[in-house]
Amino acid sequence: MKRTYRDTWAEVDLSCIRRNVEAIKRKLPPAVKLMAVVKANGYGHGDAETARAAIRAGADYLAVAYLSEALRLRNQGFEQPMLVLTPIRPEDVPLAVRSGLMLTVASADWFEQARRYKSMRSSHKLAVHVKMDTGLGRIGIREKQDWERLLPWLLEDDVVVDGVYTHFATASQPETTFLRKQAARFEEMKAWVKQSGLAFGRFHCANSAAALRFPELAMDIVRIGAAMYGFYPGRLVPSVDLEPALSLHSRIVQTKKLSKGEFVGYDLAYRTNGEEWIGTVPIGYADGWAQSLRDSDVLVEGQRVSVIGKIGMDQLMIRLPHYVPEGTKVTLIGKQGNERITCAELAGHLDSVPQELSTSLSDRICRIYD
Ligand code: PLP
Repeated sequence: MKRTYRDTWAEVDLSCIRRNVEAIKRKLPPAVKLMAVVKANGYGHGDAETARAAIRAGADYLAVAYLSEALRLRNQGFEQPMLVLTPIRPEDVPLAVRSGLMLTVASADWFEQARRYKSMRSSHKLAVHVKMDTGLGRIGIREKQDWERLLPWLLEDDVVVDGVYTHFATASQPETTFLRKQAARFEEMKAWVKQSGLAFGRFHCANSAAALRFPELAMDIVRIGAAMYGFYPGRLVPSVDLEPALSLHSRIVQTKKLSKGEFVGYDLAYRTNGEEWIGTVPIGYADGWAQSLRDSDVLVEGQRVSVIGKIGMDQLMIRLPHYVPEGTKVTLIGKQGNERITCAELAGHLDSVPQELSTSLSDRICRIYD
């Protein structure tokens, strides 16, 4: 095993990612392609490692947010079809084209600028997926006139439209009215595309939540991030077993007994109620363990114990039920005995989603793969 010089580490079980991808695929009609979303370092799990696991389990495409992320994967030998989900700088288009990437086009203006850099005479084709804004209010074509301005650029000889897609705003929310509206708007937009005479590739709209909750929206491709890492997208996806791939551990670096009324941590934020055993754990906000996790639990000897006081940059303190030797394992995400702490539980403290936590884990934390 890699020598790490630090007693705080993340374990990523790649077999969970493989099983999650296989389970998701089983839920979908066989013709639907799966695009594994490995942006943000594979949601914090490692981009290359998770991409490899997803491909082994049958993913057909990869997706990342930025050109820099795509190039990182290309440089590591990933030759699969790869979509960059955010529009790139027009001047970087020649590099992206040479790297065989599929680019997101969200406006005619972008295309016009990209054209200044991509010569029509070059032998490489510019492969794009057109992004439609059906209500998220983010990037994408919103009105028919914007589509009509873009279309002539798409019809040029060296352009290949591999896909047309949209993204939902509320796919993991119980209320589905807005999602249905977005889906209906996308149907209208699909008709514009079909009437345009464009030889185009595939339509896609579903992320994890949409694909698992509404398989009828799977269309040609589903873009799967959260679920592949084992995060349930909302609490509304009952029918598929997902296993969280990432766990996070540390070891108590010092245990001490404090008397009643003594303080723990910065700004005297905690005061002991009696004689208390306090353990210090070497992880802090510079690792992505935000101060807003100060009321969370960790697992020690198979039991939940509370984090107390303010979380520092490198260390946090926990209240132990009794003396616990230094070096004892502390699990911050994952399982000990019958207890489990999930990213979803922790995300509750952050008023966020599990992937905010996993993507926040800094590269001070070594990822160990099995
Ligand atoms: N598609 C797009 C455009 C995204 O931005 C994302 C992630 O944010 C995804 C798909 C994957 O979403 P999820 O992680 O919910 O599966």
